[in-house]
This record gives sequence, C-alpha cells and structure tokens, in this order.
Amino acid sequence: MNFPKNLSDKLETRRQNKSLRILPQPNDLIDFSSNDYIGFSKSEAIFNATHQFLLDYNIKRNGATGSRLISGNHILYTETENYIAQFHQAESALLFNSGYDANVGFFSSVPHKGDLILYDELCHASIRDGIQLSNAKSYKFKHNDFEDLELLIQRCYAERSRSTLLNEIYIVTESVFSMDGDCPNMEELVAVSEKHNCYLVVDEAHALGVFGGKGEGLIQHLQLQDKIFARVMTFGKGLGCHGAVILGSNELKSYLVNFARSFIYTTGLSPHSVATILMGYHHLEKDKIALESLRENIVFFNQVKKMLYLSPLFVRSKSAIQSVIIPGNEKVKSIANALQQNGFDVKAILSPTVPEGQERLRFCIHSYNTKEDITKVLTLLSSFVY
Ligand code: PMP
Repeated sequence: MNFPKNLSDKLETRRQNKSLRILPQPNDLIDFSSNDYIGFSKSEAIFNATHQFLLDYNIKRNGATGSRLISGNHILYTETENYIAQFHQAESALLFNSGYDANVGFFSSVPHKGDLILYDELCHASIRDGIQLSNAKSYKFKHNDFEDLELLIQRCYAERSRSTLLNEIYIVTESVFSMDGDCPNMEELVAVSEKHNCYLVVDEAHALGVFGGKGEGLIQHLQLQDKIFARVMTFGKGLGCHGAVILGSNELKSYLVNFARSFIYTTGLSPHSVATILMGYHHLEKDKIALESLRENIVFFNQVKKMLYLSPLFVRSKSAIQSVIIPGNEKVKSIANALQQNGFDVKAILSPTVPEGQERLRFCIHSYNTKEDITKVLTLLSSFVY
C-alpha cells in the first residue's frame, strides 16, 4: 500500500531533526518520569477496594454500553460526581473520559463568537486544541506574566468600544505547568480576573494529589475555589487511574451536558473506571503518608539540586515536576540515555513538544523515590552537564 508522500516527508524531517517520536518499551528503571506522583496507580488497597466495591454493589459489567445521554449513565456516576464535588468544594462535577476530552469539550463549547480567550502561552495541547475548535478569538499571554495579560485585556476593551462583538473574557491557566512544573501566582491572577470581570479557568492536572491537605489541588490549598469559573482535574496523574472532571456551577454542568461534544458523542467510562476514581478519592482522604513523602522528596530534591550547584539550570518549581533545560534535541537525548543506562528513567522532552532551545530533562518526583536515588540521579546529572 502506498503512503502519501507529504506524510512520509514529514516523518523524514522528524528523523533528520532527531525528533521522531517512537513508543518506548516498558522498563523496570527507577521511576523519575511517570505522573504517578503518590503511587496510586500501583496501590493494591485501591485495586482491592474497587473490586470489593463493585461486588458489594453487584455491578458485574465491563462497559458503560453507550453515551451517558443514552444508556451509559450507570448509578456510580451520580455517587462519584457528588463525592468529587464535595471533596473539591464545588457546586457540581462532571466526569469526562480524559483530561484531553475535558479541555476540548470545555473550550470548544463554552467560549462563543464575540468572546475572548486569553491563555498562558505554555498551556497544554488539550487546551489549545479546544481553543482551536472554538469560534471565540484567542490570544496567548506571556508565561505567568499578568502585566502582559492586563495589556491584552485593555487592548480588547479598547476594541470593544469600537465594536459590539466582545462579550465575555475567559482567562486560562494551569495551576502547575506540565512541562515546567512552576505555578502561577494564583492570588494575583484572581485579582486581575476580578478587576476586569473575566471568567477564570484553571487546569489542575498536575496539582491533584500534590497540593492541599488531602491533595485537593492548588486552588483549594489557597482557598480560591469560589473565585474560579471552572477547574479541570485529571485522574491519570496523582490519582493513578484515568478520566477527568470539570468542577463548576450547576449551570455550567448542565451547559456542558448539553453542548460539550466530547462529552455527548462518546461512550461513558466503564463502571470499573468510575469505581476506581471513587476509590482513589476515598484513598486521598486516608493516605496522608504518600502525600507527606512526596512533599519531603520535593524539598529534598531541591536541596540536593542546590548543593550540586544545579539550581540555575532548572526551572524554579515547588511541584513534583522539575525540569532542567538542556538546549538541543541531540544533547538532551544523549544525557537522558546516559541516565537510563545508569538505571534511572528520566525522559527528554524534545522540540517541537517544547520550543526549540527549551529542550529539557523532565524529572517527575514521587512519594516512592528514595533519598538515595534522588542523590544518585542528580549527582550523575551534574557529572554530565558540568
Ligand atoms: N491538562 C494537562 C495540564 C496535562 O498535562 C494533561 C496530560 N498530559 C492533560 C490535561 C490531559 O489529561 P489526560 O491525560 O487525562 O487526557
């Protein structure tokens, strides 16, 4: 079978740029790359509780059987969404099949023609893809730079006075950025958003299970939940399973059920997946040790970084994501390979996933990393970069 030439040319360009993506083989290296921040994906307690829960409810089904609006809305959905809404101090919660689906569904349906979306330039691909599907105008603001954001807002207000086509402004950010691991100053951002009557949307994918007394995320840690129009939590990271939720008002939930196409036109999550999410949340209430170990390891990682004079090479971060910038796909890949050969699973993030010159090694810290392994991997890193 022939393969279209324009596609094979694109693959060839990636090969030449050393940026061709290939699926990695599973390995048993020491994990500094997964999003399983507090080890929930491997929790036997969650696995067993899910199984028992399904038996207790006599739910012996393998799939949802349809979209939630047709036949897929099994009883666990209501219980789980209510539990999650309460846990996150939100009026309501709506489950999506993934964080990707949640962002695409939200941004493609909520902002309308005449509205404006202002998003941080480092927002995740799922947010950008959703924005691309929207009929609203969108502009990016410089990363975590709220002066730049305000300039954009003022420019838009000036335009508004000349046209009737500017209705609502949506500001979009992440509470922990997925590639840099840094956090915006949320208090400042909330103030800017309130000052200009905007709707603030925050993706908390990498904050769930990391920040807050029970891992509720950065927004609740800062007690800002009532100021945010919509929060997106994803379950493939801290919660160790799969799926996502959008938190907001009852009206927002009803709107998404009616208009978010990635919610409407897809089979719902299976009862087993929803039960795993619910048991994951129950476990967050109970397992303080994992959260504490993660936090200790983040502090320890930062201390060792400093001791080895590596801090200036890293993006400043208090989260579980710690990125060291090593420009050039080839160079960063060779250092990642060397770390892997020494037993550590550290992944290189290449351009075009990040802009050229911003290639990096992305360390993900976990509750189950040992202090010895953290010291070893950073010592090795320092021998490769200095
Ligand atoms: N938002 C952010 C910030 C992410 O990092 C990711 C996953 N990389 C997603 C959304 C998508 O979540 P999911 O993996 O559940 O599709």
